[in-house]
Amino acid sequence: MNNTAYIALGTNIGERTEYLRFALKAIQDQGIMINDYSSIYETDPVGYEDQGLFLNMVLKVKTDLPPFELLWVLQKIELESGRERKIRWGPRTLDLDILLYNHEKIETEHLIVPHPRMTERAFVLVPLAEIDQNLQIPAVTKPISLLLNELQDREGVRIWKRRSGEDVFVLFES
Ligand code: ATP
Ligand code: MG
Ligand code: MG
Repeated sequence: MNNTAYIALGTNIGERTEYLRFALKAIQDQGIMINDYSSIYETDPVGYEDQGLFLNMVLKVKTDLPPFELLWVLQKIELESGRERKIRWGPRTLDLDILLYNHEKIETEHLIVPHPRMTERAFVLVPLAEIDQNLQIPAVTKPISLLLNELQDREGVRIWKRRSGEDVFVLFES
């Protein structure tokens, strides 16, 4: 597994924890190794506000999949969760976004890495910083901690289930 990627998960419909658990299991079943993970956060919706609260988290993974194949796998998992796209930034069973892929910069029609809106989103940067606060985002000079200090919506991101132990599935034990 030669490549390191960071994936952001989001869900705000139905049994949100079940969708997260489903995503984690499906990601592992694709041979993608979950190397580290954040706590789960409950977050206020951003962009389109008339919808339920989100659960968000970030994974650090190791994978042999090239970036487009990783995107394709994640989109397949979104679809399997019943994801529909009706309103931009609207309610969703599962959103799986590639934040970073090694230190690569990718700019294509269907895939942009680093994720173009990640530096403005506390619901992404808070869990990402929990995994590695010194992480360098390609083409961004500021460290994550400084980016976060500049964000208004930090109080919209609240810890919901704190990470503990090695195994990510511990998060789902009561
Ligand atoms: P946002 O991208 O602002 O978080 P969203 O996640 O709700 O919004 P989606 O409907 O999940 O948006 O995805 C729209 C398109 O974004 C996808 O079809 C995909 O091709 C494209 N895309 C571009 N870059 C990425 C990336 N880094 N990770 C995931 N999808 C991406
Ligand atoms: Mg998204
Ligand atoms: Mg998405």
